[in-house]
Amino acid sequence: KLSLLSLGLLLFAAITSTYFALRITRPIVKLSNATKIVATGDFKFRITERPSDEIGDLYDSFNQMSHELKIREEKNTEQQKINDVLTDLAIRDSLTGLYNRRFFKENLSLEIERSRRNKNEFSIVFLDIDNFKLYNDTQGHIRGDELLIALSKLIKNNIRKSDTIARYGGEEFVITLPGIDYEGAINFANKLLKIIETYPFFGKGRQPNGNVTVSMGISTFPVNGEDALAIVQSADDALYRAKNTGKNRVA
Ligand code: GH3
Ligand code: MG
Ligand code: MG
Repeated sequence: KLSLLSLGLLLFAAITSTYFALRITRPIVKLSNATKIVATGDFKFRITERPSDEIGDLYDSFNQMSHELKIREEKNTEQQKINDVLTDLAIRDSLTGLYNRRFFKENLSLEIERSRRNKNEFSIVFLDIDNFKLYNDTQGHIRGDELLIALSKLIKNNIRKSDTIARYGGEEFVITLPGIDYEGAINFANKLLKIIETYPFFGKGRQPNGNVTVSMGISTFPVNGEDALAIVQSADDALYRAKNTGKNRVA
């Protein structure tokens, strides 16, 4: 009798454990696995084969949560794209696509910090188109704009990846040369001067000397200035000297 009872109990235990395994443990393992998948960032994942009990409700909630995460992820990506566009607008010149004066100034501060820390030199080159007012007067403002775009491209194609060029103002540009000392900057600027002087810009024949030319002023950190203001002032002074001693030259 006793053994019959224990056999019955054993059978009961076997049946209940199978029941729990099928109805509760397995669905929970499935849910747990699904959670791990979503936790890796796969918000498209959904649990399928919904049972018609509380576990089924849990699946629904899980899928709903996954769906919400997917929507949020999409919104974030959208927002990030908008932010990137806004950042780009804030630091670029709309005519030439070059960096603007704001970017130059921020970059200059960073360059000073970096060079101070590493005890490095760097140079900046101010560049201003010679007789650009005359070019506008003889070719028209639209051709003037096109010249600014063409010159921007030409300079961009003749600097290193680590150098940056910005449009500082109307027909004034500034190039930052990390790690380049005064002599290196003079060499670079003179090479660029020749490249510009010989480039077949539209309407160059009607400029003085038959060429579109530029003047450049160089300033090197830390020899010509130890802070942003002094460096910019020094480059501006040099540009002024280049203009006053005949244009189409480096000073
Ligand atoms: P210098 O050789 O001494 O530099 O003389 P310059 O004629 O180049 O200089 P000035 O400062 O007398 O004139 C600059 C001209 O640049 C006047 C202005 O109308 C023109 N300018 C400034 N920004 C733009 C622009 O975005 N597009 C066009 N087309 N012209 C511009
Ligand atoms: Mg100017
Ligand atoms: Mg000019």
